[in-house]
Amino acid sequence: FRRPSGHGKIHATYNAYHLYHPLPIVLDRGLGAKVWDVEGKEYIDMLSAYSAVNQGHCHPAIVQTMQEQATKLTLSSRAFYNSVFGRFARVVHEIFGYDMVLPMNTGAEAVETSLKLARKWGYMKKGIPEGKARIFSAEGNFHGRTLGVISMSTDPDSRTGFGPYLERVGSTYEVEDTEGDEESEVKTIRYGVIEDLEHALALYGEETAAVLLEPIQGEAGIVVPPAGYLTKVHALCKKHNVLLICDEIQTGLCRTGKMLAVEHEGIRPDVVLLGKALSGGVYPVSAVLADKAVMLCIQPNEHGSTYGGNPLGCAVAITALQVLIDEKLAERAERLGKMFRDGVSEIKKRGKAGKLIREVRGRGLLNAIVFEEGESTKGRTAWEFCLLLKDRGVLAKPTHQNIIRFAPPLVIEEEDLKRALRTIGQCLEDI
Ligand code: PLP
Repeated sequence: FRRPSGHGKIHATYNAYHLYHPLPIVLDRGLGAKVWDVEGKEYIDMLSAYSAVNQGHCHPAIVQTMQEQATKLTLSSRAFYNSVFGRFARVVHEIFGYDMVLPMNTGAEAVETSLKLARKWGYMKKGIPEGKARIFSAEGNFHGRTLGVISMSTDPDSRTGFGPYLERVGSTYEVEDTEGDEESEVKTIRYGVIEDLEHALALYGEETAAVLLEPIQGEAGIVVPPAGYLTKVHALCKKHNVLLICDEIQTGLCRTGKMLAVEHEGIRPDVVLLGKALSGGVYPVSAVLADKAVMLCIQPNEHGSTYGGNPLGCAVAITALQVLIDEKLAERAERLGKMFRDGVSEIKKRGKAGKLIREVRGRGLLNAIVFEEGESTKGRTAWEFCLLLKDRGVLAKPTHQNIIRFAPPLVIEEEDLKRALRTIGQCLEDI
């Protein structure tokens, strides 16, 4: 299309429906942990497209693979085999140790797939009566935006106006009133509180097919559960013959200092979900990982996706995984993440900044600064702080009114991370 003349500068949101609330900046170029706007101004990216660009923007090896495969074969559909999907499945098996991989495209699709898989397993293997399978998640979860997935959400912004929701999935359950004459009470499974899940499974374990959790809740504001929580959840799931599905779409692929965040507790979930950085941000690729005993519950023709497992995505994902390993990005995330949290803790010791910061938390390079609310901040919000950071060349985004996530590409240079820390410190003094 040619734009009619006389419109001046192209406005990035012209004709684009506003699904997000973006910072007022129009990005044009990216390399590694840096991005440039349309006016050529340089920024340090501290968001990584919500942890999709762990390998850095436009990683040369990933882009090269994409270009090569794009001239060879891009899509076969799953009606035929293609020469790359098998290799991708082999690589995923070798890295993560699950028998099988079911490829999809977006994170939400991987989650939906796992919900279907868990229900099927529940009926076929566990013997849950037809139509009765339950899947529990935890309060504050974020697993995407599709209808099944938002049925699990406890966030009114995600849910309101989109009902009716899927039944028997979510982080609440009903407790019958034993006296008989009052209405049943609805209980919520709090994230990180093992007693809540214990109670839910004590009541509904027999009809529960799966528990779906993020090892660290990302969108909720980088909520790290207490040490041992995931291990206890894993044991509880075993006790009740319930599948544990871990959504590693944001936490996985070296982000938290391990290939998978569950490795911090040494547990092996029954199902693992990957997305985002599985393609290093150049192409949507997601995946469901499980052993045969679970995965084969879904039979041919019962599930699928036109683009799932396409050769272009598979080739890109193989290289994206290779980059994570070759460049030792897990170790890098671990080391630089500690440096970031230590740096913020130092800033917190200063008078004014100390009053504004409540805590810094996270794991590896998935971190958040939580701001104080109320009197001490004099109404200044995380949003305003992000605007100030942007003006000074650092990009970050609030996850809530008072929480800012800092999750740079894992390839970020130490010097750039230090620069970002200095900018954070200065902005806290000046805001
Ligand atoms: N699960 C988690 C933990 C996520 O953080 C996200 C996205 O932020 C999703 C699922 C959904 O992924 P997508 O946006 O690719 O559908």
